[in-house]
Amino acid sequence: MTKRQKGHLASRPVFFSPGQCFSCMNCGKCCKLWDVPLSSREKDSISKLAFSSFQIGKGDFFLNDPKRRNVFLLKKIGGRCIFLGEDELCMIHKEFGESAKPLACRAYPFDVFNWVDGSVSASLRHDCPSVANESGKPMASHEPFIRKLADETAESTFRMNAPYSRAIRPPIAKLRTIASAYSKIFSHSTAPFSLKILGAASLLEFHSRKENSHDIEEFEESFVGDASALFERSLAELERSMKNPCQLDLRRKILFRYIVNGFLRSDEASKYGTGLIGRCRRTISLLKFCLGSGGASELIGAAGKIEEEDPVLALNCEILGKNETERLQRFVQTKIQSLHFCGFPSLEHSFEEGMMHLLMSLPAASAISAMISCEDRKENAFPINRALMLTDHTFSRSPFFALGWTKRIEKEFCRPPLLSSLLGPFVNIH
Ligand code: SF4
Ligand code: SF4
Repeated sequence: MTKRQKGHLASRPVFFSPGQCFSCMNCGKCCKLWDVPLSSREKDSISKLAFSSFQIGKGDFFLNDPKRRNVFLLKKIGGRCIFLGEDELCMIHKEFGESAKPLACRAYPFDVFNWVDGSVSASLRHDCPSVANESGKPMASHEPFIRKLADETAESTFRMNAPYSRAIRPPIAKLRTIASAYSKIFSHSTAPFSLKILGAASLLEFHSRKENSHDIEEFEESFVGDASALFERSLAELERSMKNPCQLDLRRKILFRYIVNGFLRSDEASKYGTGLIGRCRRTISLLKFCLGSGGASELIGAAGKIEEEDPVLALNCEILGKNETERLQRFVQTKIQSLHFCGFPSLEHSFEEGMMHLLMSLPAASAISAMISCEDRKENAFPINRALMLTDHTFSRSPFFALGWTKRIEKEFCRPPLLSSLLGPFVNIH
């Protein structure tokens, strides 16, 4: 890279939510949970490392990625990366320093996007316990590292882009302005969280109407102010909608469980296996779960004990406390301020689809929180942190959410009258 290019990268705007925190606690979770992809260059350089304390033959380090050509995976033994020592520390890191590790390991738990307009955005993944528990150094102190990662991947990786919808493709700067309107709704100081979620869904619906789409197509300085004013004007109607929610019929109960199942896919490959038998077992668990007759414990795997197997029942008996609701609000802002609910290369959600996915993740996380066993649930934000660890593991990543019918179900639930039936846990909390 030339000096000129480096100078250009250093001046690029970087967007992130300042509220996130992270410092690695060396818990080793990420070295067990994830498959680590490697380029051929990384594979070659790891092959050349001369370990003093590592006895395994070099041919045993790698596997071919069954889904991608010229991509390799680090081998796992007993569900642990081959380089993860008994002390839960990485042996490559210990012997050769951080820079010797694969990019995927150095980057985790950061999601760093290079966008087509040259901007960079970053967020931290909640499936890392330090991030979920909001412990560690604030995001701003990681900015030099975020810039370094962005620079390192700028030339080699895909540049992110996202349309507003299938028909409207504003520039990324405009998408950020539209996202600010949603961020403002979620930071409203007096509206209950349920009304903020409904307000965001109403704004999406408003702009989906043909007569209002010019707000998205043409840049207006007043966009954020107009959207806030619309939210203020609709508060009374949204409140009425919350007081008289639609009842979930049998079909919609099944569909809600189906969506929650997507967020519970924690470690399916290790639990069920990837072959035909594994897929059949997974399908049986999914069917049982969608019909409300259990299966959640099997879906969630080792990620936690489940007290309540049915998310619909769990949702109905849950009312979230202030700490938990504030935690969810920070989760939402993390995604909105980084724009990390759309444009993920694996799903290519449009802004509209991604926002619906984000709104649906909130009742899903709340239901999962209620399903996870914890005696002091009302006093402590811990179950919601664990629920976010699960929810964010698949959020905008699992191919399940790229399926056309999954997107249609999320869209159906994101209409305000129906969405209100899922927001019982958020009543009365600002
Ligand atoms: S999961 Fe998070 S805290 Fe644990 S080792 Fe990985 S990066 Fe560190
Ligand atoms: S290479 Fe090191 S950091 Fe990466 S998954 Fe393996 S043990 Fe963890």
